[in-house]
Amino acid sequence: PIYLTSTFAFPTAEYGAGCFAGEEHGHFYTRISNPTLALLESRMAALESGEAAVAFSSGMGAIAATFWTLLRPADEIIVSRTLYGCTFALLHHGIGEFGIKVLHVDMSNLADVEAAITPATRMIYFETPANPNMQLVDIAAISAIAHKHDNITVVIDNTYCTPYLQRPLEMGADVVVHSATKYLSGHSDITAGVVVARQTVADKIRLQGLKDLTGAVLSPQDAYLLMRGLKTLTLRMDRHCSSALAIAQFLEEHPAVESVTYPGLSSFPQYALATRQMKMPGGMIAFELKGGLDAGRRFMNALSLFSRAVSLGGAESLAQHPASMTHSTYTREERALHDISEGLVRLAVGLEDLDDLLADITQALKTLMPTRQGL
Ligand code: PLP
Repeated sequence: PIYLTSTFAFPTAEYGAGCFAGEEHGHFYTRISNPTLALLESRMAALESGEAAVAFSSGMGAIAATFWTLLRPADEIIVSRTLYGCTFALLHHGIGEFGIKVLHVDMSNLADVEAAITPATRMIYFETPANPNMQLVDIAAISAIAHKHDNITVVIDNTYCTPYLQRPLEMGADVVVHSATKYLSGHSDITAGVVVARQTVADKIRLQGLKDLTGAVLSPQDAYLLMRGLKTLTLRMDRHCSSALAIAQFLEEHPAVESVTYPGLSSFPQYALATRQMKMPGGMIAFELKGGLDAGRRFMNALSLFSRAVSLGGAESLAQHPASMTHSTYTREERALHDISEGLVRLAVGLEDLDDLLADITQALKTLMPTRQGL
């Protein structure tokens, strides 16, 4: 059932007081808990091998609530070099301006991570694969380094993989955050976020981050849609991955393409880590065309089955240009520093027929090839 209910009646005044004191565990106000959200949360906790989960109205709601709950002024957070644009903005224009020190580290170098840790370090945060350049971070290795120290929480954005492809908590991480707007719901019809963690951490994020600091509660109607999406997650991910691999292989061979970054290609610099850490390489591809940004724009404008749109994880294939779209929250200099090249094109491979997708890419690439006069 979908409990479209904001408030729940108390049988007695004493019971109501007990709810507010944390002595009773019934649902009493949907910004704190709701039966439909609770079912979704128990499923997400099970899928991620965590003790508990908290649902949010967006991925950014989940990430913001996690940061605001677990970090305090004078704390330090170590983050990977490349992050989704709004997470980068939250760090640098949000918590970074409230006295929390943000330190970007190239996490492919474990010694650099170790060296960046100080007594004030409270959190290590990363995406793997990173949006948009697909760089991976070794979850087990970073978690092992963090846990040599007291009080460092390892938080991973698992949006690109979903628990079907990668389960960070089983590899030693403490908290997983998701934009459930993407593969988990799978149909580009809601925005949602989820945090999965130990019970005590999840309770804290619910009672501070969700209830008081962000108020970013998921609608029960959207929780229902998200649970419906979860029922087909494995089928959809299988298809996203097999089509993306075929497209990446095709792009890699094409003369108009400069480079392709996809964890399923043996040319991928972290291929060994990808096979160890991920069940399959995912549905996202980053690539560069010969001719850089201008060629990228012409390619995108020539696509007809792929939509020119941000986001990912839905049935429809999407193409976008991170430097001018999802990662325009970075300045040009910051993009250079954080390894987001100006010409990179990001593909989110959908569920359409593979031959149709390849035909669309083929005809769009053809528009970039030099033509001989008169032919
Ligand atoms: N994390 C990643 C990796 C994302 O790609 C996104 C959105 O694109 C988010 C977080 C933010 O999620 P939402 O748009 O649901 O707030």
